Amino acid sequence: SVDILPIPAPQGERPSFFLLLFRDRTAERRIERMRTDFVANASHELRTPLASLIGFIETLQGAARDDAVARARFLDIMRDQAARMSRLIDDLLSLSRIEMKRHVAVEGRVDLAEVFAEVQETLAPLAAESALAIEIEAEAGAHVVAGDRDELVQVFSNLVENACKYGESGKRVVMALKRVRGRDGSVIEASVTDFGPGIAAEHVPRLTERFYRVESGGSRARRGTGLGLSIVRNILVRHRARLLVHSVVGQGSTFTARFPVKDVH
Ligand code: ADP
Repeated sequence: SVDILPIPAPQGERPSFFLLLFRDRTAERRIERMRTDFVANASHELRTPLASLIGFIETLQGAARDDAVARARFLDIMRDQAARMSRLIDDLLSLSRIEMKRHVAVEGRVDLAEVFAEVQETLAPLAAESALAIEIEAEAGAHVVAGDRDELVQVFSNLVENACKYGESGKRVVMALKRVRGRDGSVIEASVTDFGPGIAAEHVPRLTERFYRVESGGSRARRGTGLGLSIVRNILVRHRARLLVHSVVGQGSTFTARFPVKDVH
């Protein structure tokens, strides 16, 4: 777009120079586009389970009214669909809460060793469902980063939940913590490794896109919303941490968050 502003002339004279301002609207348009896509995707994701619920309710009011077996089965499906909507809404709310704070610097100090212990304890029952054990491998001592404790618990919960959902039964999920010294100071690397099916290279760059999911057949996998890793990425951006994904098909995946730390004396 072009804005034309007259340059003020000395009193009484007509302006004779004009300043042309070219404003680049493509970035604004792209953001607007992303917003409308997001609303469309979110509405679609919510509508699917809702349409299925309405369909089952109508069936229960009509054809299946007196069929006890069908009724029990339909109610199971309806409960799953309602639970799915509830998960979607929780994830959408988390995402919007984090995006509102995107440019606000984090203030607290958080020991990642404590975050790991909390996630391990909270997700032990989920891991047990797949006969998985969550192990922590941490170098001794505190691993303190600048951050928001609840948000960091959410990051590692999402990563461990994925490791349990997609990891193979009967194996381990390893949460590891270590400090690495680089040229520009130290970083703390906090990673979650599973020994599941891994992720094909072509999907890796898109994993943190909202609603992006790799097609897979498992019933556990179908419970996902496709928002988990975009929540992870948004929280890490706010913490100035980078997310690295290393995955080998047939062997497993490692998701690593690298947090910058100032050396403590
Ligand atoms: P979802 O709610 O579907 O789990 P995510 O954003 O957490 O959404 O993950 C996006 C997709 O990335 C998943 O649908 C899955 O296909 C793939 N994925 C994530 N973590 C893993 C993992 N540890 N092993 C294999 N695939 C994974």
